[in-house]
Amino acid sequence: MSHSRSTRMPAEPDVDRKALWVVRELGLPAIIKTCVSCRATRHRPTGKIRVNANGKLLDVWMLIGCEQCDRTSKIPVHERVHVQALDHERLVMFENNDPAMVRRLAMDAALAGRAGYRLDWTGTWDLETDLPFYDLAKDDPASLEVLVRFELPVPIRVEKLLRAGFGLSRSAVRGMVGSGRIRLPMALDAKVRADFSLFVLATEP
Ligand SMILES: [Zn+2]
Repeated sequence: MSHSRSTRMPAEPDVDRKALWVVRELGLPAIIKTCVSCRATRHRPTGKIRVNANGKLLDVWMLIGCEQCDRTSKIPVHERVHVQALDHERLVMFENNDPAMVRRLAMDAALAGRAGYRLDWTGTWDLETDLPFYDLAKDDPASLEVLVRFELPVPIRVEKLLRAGFGLSRSAVRGMVGSGRIRLPMALDAKVRADFSLFVLATEP
């Protein structure tokens, strides 16, 4: 994760302290599509990518397995793409069942949209903070910048992140954002999936 992906507000307040929250990766999302054998819906990548050449045209599929009955299904990644049109490095990764490529495909929301399935991110992440206790309920003269870093592109509602990170109730989070104590680069109800910074402003002495 690089700092260049951070979403920053135009004018950043002076901060006394900085904290890092990391959205840790616990696993890959489940692929939700109906199994043609058993009608169950949850699938997992098998770790295999199949490449089929027909002359100069290639088909590439990600193979997934039904959690219920183990039936393997194919998710089309490329269909009848000219071999020249495919980045060579990418093709080598496909041919080698490269785990990094399998991971990338398994988390690819655009691919899910094209291929007509949904991703279930339940249980794929947890939030690690280096400030186990920062009592926002008390007045604190110090301001704080929190950099939120994502190890995986899981969409999380901002409010849920704040509740988990600060250990606050829904109404407390809403109150602090509403009063401007917590400043966000996006709406509280928005979903985020990439690095950003938020600020907790100092209380008036
Ligand atoms: Zn099945």
